[in-house]
Amino acid sequence: MSSPRLYVVATPIGNLGDLSPRAQQILAEVDLIAAEDTRHSGKLLQHFNIKANLISVHDHNERQRASLIIDRLAAGESVALVSDAGTPIISDPGFVLVRAVKEAGFEVSPVPGCCAFVAALSASGMPSDRFSFIGFLPAKSGARVKALEALADRQETLIFYESTHRIVDSLKDMAQALGDQRRVCVARELTKTFETIHTDTLGAVIEWMLADANQQRGEFVVIVEGAAPVETLLTQDAIRVLELLAAELPPKKAAALAADITGANKKELYQHLIG
Ligand code: SAM
Repeated sequence: MSSPRLYVVATPIGNLGDLSPRAQQILAEVDLIAAEDTRHSGKLLQHFNIKANLISVHDHNERQRASLIIDRLAAGESVALVSDAGTPIISDPGFVLVRAVKEAGFEVSPVPGCCAFVAALSASGMPSDRFSFIGFLPAKSGARVKALEALADRQETLIFYESTHRIVDSLKDMAQALGDQRRVCVARELTKTFETIHTDTLGAVIEWMLADANQQRGEFVVIVEGAAPVETLLTQDAIRVLELLAAELPPKKAAALAADITGANKKELYQHLIG
């Protein structure tokens, strides 16, 4: 094992066969494992016959735990951070600890593996050239709709995490804020027995889910296609004026003047110029 460091170790999101040999080796060799829930991770370690010293690190004790872990690193020990499932830090605790350890001058090494949203995206058939990972939406519907409305014009793929308790309500709010014709992929229980990956419009997916209560159970990644690019409403005349002005002026100025002359939208004119 290399110099004392904090390893950020990804663990399975369902199928225990997804714990990599390297992750197993590191979990077996470190002096201490910092786990979101020691009982939960204890079971994983037991399955792999790994004996380890565990301490809990969660949202409420991360700061105190960071100083304890830095002391252990300073004493020459190595530490692994795990969460209940998938990659720590991704909608999970650990950010405060990783930052503190780095600020204290110690190395942090990732031990990559499962991450629910990456797994879902890889099998979704949704555009993946540009995407935003949003994670969990607010629990209350009003705040959720507001958050979704703020995302409505985004053209990249949008990725959300959702739980069994809120999946239907969240999909309904998405249909309200984004339109029920927007395409969505719902990835449920990935790598587990009841894995289901279903793609359709928001309206159709809600109906499909309401028709079968089993489809509302488990853990979900929701992947929503981005908004369609806005069709330009510029007339040929406006474009001609714009292009004449742009031959003499910088794009911003040309767009502003063309907007004054033709009454067309300044932003659209500018977009037309910069492509
Ligand atoms: N750190 C984890 C990761 O790397 O994906 C995510 C932790 S977050 C607290 C838990 C959420 O991840 C669940 O509510 C669900 O949205 C998603 N998730 C985790 N496991 C999943 C699975 N097997 N199938 C679908 N979604 C899953």
